[in-house]
Amino acid sequence: MDSILVHYGEIALKKGKRSFFENLLVGNIKQALQQEKIQGVRKIFGRILITLNAASDQESITKKLRCVPGIISFAFCQKVPSDIAVFRKTIEGLARQQDKTIFMIRAKKAGKEFPLGSMEVNKQVGAHLVGALGYTVDLEHPEIAFYIEIVNQLAFVYTDKDVVQGVGGLPTGSSGKVICLLSGGIDSPVAAYYLMRRGCSVTFVHFYNASITSEAALEKVKDLVRVLTPYQLRSTLQVVPFTALQNVIIEKIPADYRMILYRRFMLRIAEALACKEGAGALLTGENLAQVASQTLENLNTISAVTPMQIFRPLIGFDKDDIIKIARKIGTYEISIQPYGDCCSYMIAEHPQTKAKLPAVEQHEKKLDVQKLVSAALKATKKEEFKI
Ligand code: ATP
Ligand code: MG
Repeated sequence: MDSILVHYGEIALKKGKRSFFENLLVGNIKQALQQEKIQGVRKIFGRILITLNAASDQESITKKLRCVPGIISFAFCQKVPSDIAVFRKTIEGLARQQDKTIFMIRAKKAGKEFPLGSMEVNKQVGAHLVGALGYTVDLEHPEIAFYIEIVNQLAFVYTDKDVVQGVGGLPTGSSGKVICLLSGGIDSPVAAYYLMRRGCSVTFVHFYNASITSEAALEKVKDLVRVLTPYQLRSTLQVVPFTALQNVIIEKIPADYRMILYRRFMLRIAEALACKEGAGALLTGENLAQVASQTLENLNTISAVTPMQIFRPLIGFDKDDIIKIARKIGTYEISIQPYGDCCSYMIAEHPQTKAKLPAVEQHEKKLDVQKLVSAALKATKKEEFKI
């Protein structure tokens, strides 16, 4: 196989801005494969062509392309001249290399330079396999499908076994920036993945209480960012010290309200970081009614602290479905490591499940909110991650 043909789905629908999306995707693929030995990456008629060379490491390239948002699927293929005799010979060669005998041919044609239509190509190449190898055609339930994608003078030949599914969605950088509150639990990394798939650049913020959680807990969060980074090529993690703030809350606020106040402070700080970074929304792993802080009433009371859009892509998911995705993207095993989160600290046995905004605001009057937020922002540390 000397090439990879990349298919992208939704981009094709974006008529006016199509080349903007395509160019972004080409640039992202180049970056994702910058350490790989390849000849080049270019657009070709509604697809992207990656030209390999003898030294290309197909396994490593596959691993990287699987993470690039915007790619629906890609196929390792042979580039051949558009010529029906060449199609017959190449497909016969592919057929002989494997043991399936019930097949179909699927030709697709882009551009008008090749004279035969795709149906005619299907017929002629199919008849050749039947005649030369005694194979059987079955369009409904083939054991193997042979693809011929004709793009004017060039064609790309592969089988369904050479196709790898991508993450889909839109290319990184096409949907702006969001700030993800990343906890170290199972949910928030999955939430980040969903927004990355939609073309967002996700900046991570973690609130860290060094006096109650170990260095290992912070390392765990960094490991999560490392696993997520291939989905957007580079990431920033902002670590916000939360100790001073939590201590004041513990001192002045009754236990059943603390979680609500922690969350509201997190959002205030995240909003300030979003403004600084030019991000357009906040993102959390919250999920309706999963824990006491995530009842409808509490979510409303927490959200009221910021006018900024808060994305909660997992709001209606079942935990099992979240875990499935976490396993798929490789964050699950890290998330289940047993290092506690700062929020489990000094929480009531019976937390408020219906916190009303006026009551919460009354409690916050006991605190110098602006000062606490400014101090936390001042002590925030930034770390960059690259693939
Ligand atoms: P997760 O599995 O993401 O921790 P969760 O179901 O355990 O979520 P909570 O612990 O209540 O729920 O947290 C809700 C959301 O608040 C998290 O998904 C995350 O976005 C944010 N969050 C909680 N703790 C932190 C933290 N220490 N730093 C940053 N964000 C946090
Ligand atoms: Mg959690």
